[in-house]
Amino acid sequence: MIGLEEYWRRFREAARDQGFAEECLVATDAGPVWAFARVPSLGERPVYLSSGIHGDEPAGPLALLELLESGALAGLPSCLLCPLLNPTGILAATRETARGVDLNRDYLQRSTPEVRAHVAWLERHPWPEMLISLHEDWESAGFYFYEINLGREEPVRVERIFEAVAPWLERERAERIDDHEVREPGWIFHRAEADLPDSWPEAIFLAKSGCPLSFTFETPSSVALERRVAAHVAAARTVLGGWIGA
Ligand SMILES: [Zn+2]
Repeated sequence: MIGLEEYWRRFREAARDQGFAEECLVATDAGPVWAFARVPSLGERPVYLSSGIHGDEPAGPLALLELLESGALAGLPSCLLCPLLNPTGILAATRETARGVDLNRDYLQRSTPEVRAHVAWLERHPWPEMLISLHEDWESAGFYFYEINLGREEPVRVERIFEAVAPWLERERAERIDDHEVREPGWIFHRAEADLPDSWPEAIFLAKSGCPLSFTFETPSSVALERRVAAHVAAARTVLGGWIGA
């Protein structure tokens, strides 16, 4: 992972060039948390991309930076980005914050300044019509993803995602992943309910609040970082390509 200052410098510069408004959500012991919005009109529901909520998963923030710098988000008329919500965790390379909280279980209680500020920022914008969330898994051997879909299902898209990722990562073959049954190898079709009722992840909060579609991509931490980043970029580009082209 590049240093936080370098990361934010590059992200903010590219975002500014592409018409995003930036906002400092909160100041942490590891520096500010920035979020970015390009929402031209209140009626235009954004696509929202999220990464860096777990500090030991650097591939997501790097992939989101690459997606932005490469222009992959330029075709989205309305877009929200929160690339690195957990700088204290990134600095310490821990899943949790420096205070020991898993931010991605805090969206019901909202006990942390990071999540409170994040939710307040989301609520200042039209609610996303799609979430793409980039994570990593320390236990899996292959790539897999969660889909929450309260609308029309598109099985073809699932295959396209695995095809796009195939040059870098195999799909996870385990029959149960992270205690979830798979619908097909590597694909967890998740209902819009938290596995633990009091511990809401970001994706569940988004879904329960009216975001009808989300993809949470998971790359295996055991393979080389460049491959994890490339896989995230490929998976996100696949979903975005279908979205922009639809
Ligand atoms: Zn994660």
